[in-house]
Amino acid sequence: MSESTSFFSKAEGTAEVAARFADLRPPLEKTAAVTEAQRCLYCFDAPCMAACPTHIDVPKFIKKIASGNLEGSARTILDANILGASCSRACPVQVLCEGACVMHRYNKQPIEIGRLQRFAMDALHASGAPLPFAPGADTGRRVALIGGGPASLACAAELRRRGVRAEIFDARPLPGGLNTYGIAEYKLPLAESLREIDLLAQLGVEFHFKTVVNAAKLAELEASYDAVFLGMGLGAIHKLGIAGEELEGVTNALDFIAGYKNGKINHAPPKVAVIGAGNTAIDAANAAVRLGASEVHMVYRRGSEQMSAFAFEYEHARQAGVKFLWHVAPVGLAGTKKVHGLELAHLETTSDGSLVPMQGENFTLAVDLIVLAIGQATHAEFVSEGKVKLERGRIVIDRATGQTSNAKYFAGGDCTNGGREVVDAVADGKRAGIGIAAWLEGQDANA
Ligand code: SF4
Repeated sequence: MSESTSFFSKAEGTAEVAARFADLRPPLEKTAAVTEAQRCLYCFDAPCMAACPTHIDVPKFIKKIASGNLEGSARTILDANILGASCSRACPVQVLCEGACVMHRYNKQPIEIGRLQRFAMDALHASGAPLPFAPGADTGRRVALIGGGPASLACAAELRRRGVRAEIFDARPLPGGLNTYGIAEYKLPLAESLREIDLLAQLGVEFHFKTVVNAAKLAELEASYDAVFLGMGLGAIHKLGIAGEELEGVTNALDFIAGYKNGKINHAPPKVAVIGAGNTAIDAANAAVRLGASEVHMVYRRGSEQMSAFAFEYEHARQAGVKFLWHVAPVGLAGTKKVHGLELAHLETTSDGSLVPMQGENFTLAVDLIVLAIGQATHAEFVSEGKVKLERGRIVIDRATGQTSNAKYFAGGDCTNGGREVVDAVADGKRAGIGIAAWLEGQDANA
């Protein structure tokens, strides 16, 4: 059964969580937004636009804010990026558009592009105005999209704008994938992800929830639809591979973040250890602090200079009071039913660059909760039987069209790139939506 009712209304009950996870970057007031918009130089060949994976026309949308045309501003954003609202909150703008702003050259603060984008999108939501696009004339074609995250949503929007029916299949009860379940609430609240998808549903995108797509289901979809888009993201977080991981009190970052976002986890115990040093690990550590933990450690086998988290995320965690243990690795978990200790070994680097435990240097950290954030496995096993070409578990695509080695299959997002930003998944989905529509059109022309 497909659903396309208001998803935003299903976000009730998360108000308490929202109160604890106040905005990391608060919204701009109207006067501040206009003042900031007027600071923009409206550059020709704007580097901020080139730095955005979806190539939003940044000077154009900012100029419309300066002139008071907020609906026009939102339209400019949505035209390039249908998930412009969530990207305005979740994007690491410091290393994308704002990182490229010419203001850096003049030793001035870059234009606050992310907050201005959010200002325009919030204004559109607040006005109750409909999505400023209509679906294209019906082509009679239909596409099945696997996974309800940003790549599939962006792909579906492009298909609908070109008159192609788009049906999303997702194992979860709500749409949005990582946008809804996996991004820290202080960056992108669950309710905001759903509000955005309500807007997108106006294009007529259809949803099938609680639907697991395995090899058999995929074969069924392949036979019934004109094309298939694979946008299922990544799979489970890796395990440590040491005894005791099944103990109560050992979880993974994705379950932990999804748990508090949907209201199932309301507090963290006093002592928490997060294993890993990527952006998801930082999100989990910051969440533990906001959920009441008094002592949160991040544990990483290398040093701060090698962590994959952005520098500003690291700084955010430090300011929140998270402590870091560098050059250590878990070697044991203590506990009978419930975990109460994490045994760690100090590591040293050998001449060939490998990490080995230092003899007699183990120590135990008292813990009530361990959160694993050491990378995710791929999730393409159901297409691994020669259906599409894979490399190291990732689906290989033509980056211009999203088409795989199997002409009927297209793909985008984390299952093709191993896990990047939301905006990269949106860009992939957008390209694939355009690519699929062009491929279907080519077939019709040759029929
Ligand atoms: S680079 Fe900076 S100043 Fe130039 S258009 Fe972009 S935001 Fe405005």
